Amino acid sequence: MFVGLVSLEAAASFSPGSRSILRDIGSNNADQKDNALELNATNFDSVFQDSPAKYAVLEFFAHWCPACRNYKPHYEKVARLFNGADAVHPGVVLMTRVDCAIKMNVKLCDKFSINHYPMLFWAPPKKFVGGSWGPKQEKSEISVVDEWRTADLLLNWINKQMGSSYGLDDQKFGNLLTNISDQEQISQAIFDIEEATEEAFDIILSHKAIKSSETSASFIRFLQLLVAHHPSRRCRTGSAEILVNFDDLCPSGECSYDQESGGKDTLRNFHICGKDVPRGYYRFCRGSKNETRGFSCGLWVLMHSLSVRIEDGESQFAFTAICEFINNFFMCDDCRRHFHDMCLSVKTPFKKARDIVLWLWSTHNKVNERLKKDEDSLGTGDPKFPKMIWPPKQLCPSCYLSSTEKNIDWDHDEVYKFLKKYYGQKLVSVYKKNGDSVSKGEVVAAAEEMAVPTNALVVPVGAALAIALASCAFGALACYWRTQQKNRKQQIQRR
Ligand code: FAD
Repeated sequence: MFVGLVSLEAAASFSPGSRSILRDIGSNNADQKDNALELNATNFDSVFQDSPAKYAVLEFFAHWCPACRNYKPHYEKVARLFNGADAVHPGVVLMTRVDCAIKMNVKLCDKFSINHYPMLFWAPPKKFVGGSWGPKQEKSEISVVDEWRTADLLLNWINKQMGSSYGLDDQKFGNLLTNISDQEQISQAIFDIEEATEEAFDIILSHKAIKSSETSASFIRFLQLLVAHHPSRRCRTGSAEILVNFDDLCPSGECSYDQESGGKDTLRNFHICGKDVPRGYYRFCRGSKNETRGFSCGLWVLMHSLSVRIEDGESQFAFTAICEFINNFFMCDDCRRHFHDMCLSVKTPFKKARDIVLWLWSTHNKVNERLKKDEDSLGTGDPKFPKMIWPPKQLCPSCYLSSTEKNIDWDHDEVYKFLKKYYGQKLVSVYKKNGDSVSKGEVVAAAEEMAVPTNALVVPVGAALAIALASCAFGALACYWRTQQKNRKQQIQRR
């Protein structure tokens, strides 16, 4: 009987940090096909410590126990979804097991008060580090899994804990659904939203696309939207900085783009999302081929994530800002022409935030539908991410009232709820935990005030625009900040 068995395949789906550890403990058994990681007293803490997964299932078993042997295929069926190179939902749940019939694990099993086999526990991986469990323990972040006897029961139990809808059948879609059906994957999209925002700005600069008062106004409107509702705090801050300085950078719509102009105040000196963006790659929007997905995917995700953050009173403003931005600055002729037509087809002004969220969703689906036909006939799509009407049923079962091959009857209230959650809470929550790298030095004082991480209307964008049109070229907000900045500069000079 060997000790410390870990499948290399299983290890492959985890982060580089955890990979090194898993490689060490798996090195003596490369043929092992199991996807659940078999742990022992030596590697137990380090594997859980290093795991990027949100939750872990820990099964205590004994290799001599016939019931455990019969249960193993069920457990493996679930493990296959989350662990291993072919996992459909990699890295979401770490599936592990410990053999209590091995001498070195006896103390470990004692710590968890194992009195029958198999016995399953559930917790965020880090809670297992140095962890223990006892039946009399009142408050524990480690829970006993009480519905586990079949793969279906176990997965249902996991779904209940996570509010997810993973299915054992998900595997039949292979990698296709790893980016789209997995609720956890959307958290990666915050990186792509930053990337796409900065890439859009870079493209505007390299094409010198702000060239008239009309394009200036359109750029400002979009910036105002970003200042108020970009899901990344540092992009809100960066947008605010550009907005504040805009009348210096682009007097009368004539922008100075680069250092050649001699001045320090050129648009090139600014970054919307910080100096280390763009990073040059996408995560959620990464295609399986070099030429697919990436920026245009990031742009869609940016627009959806903005749409779910706006308030009722801003919906028409946001609609106009998005339509104009795409029309003026998305350098794909076909795309912007089609999109512009769809914008023009809206005859009644939007009154509710729901209107723009659902309009953008259905517009995106119209694009998907059209592109699906093109890509299917020309073979130009990404084979791992074929276009589809979205969200698929696995991702939002309640969005579907009924569906046939040709027609889907949507429950729009459910779609709206789903989009708010998917592009709203999921993106913000993970970003706050892992990615908040605002540089205080770069923060404009007024932008700091705005950058509260809520969905509340922090900038009266619509009002700012109305005042801006009437009295100030670049928005009341920008005027206000500029005045404040000038006052501050003057105060410093006087000292
Ligand atoms: P995308 O379509 O880029 O979608 C990104 C992600 O958004 C998906 O992975 C999914 O998670 C989610 N998603 C998908 N559908 C929806 C939906 N309905 N609502 C909410 N979220 C959804 N390409 C052309 O060849 N011709 C065009 O005319 C064209 N027009 C475009 C117009 C705009 C405004 C944009 C931003 C892009 C356009 N593109 C066009 C590019 C095209 O839409 C895709 O972005 C590109 O093909 C990459 O596709 P993707 O598989 O990454 O998914």
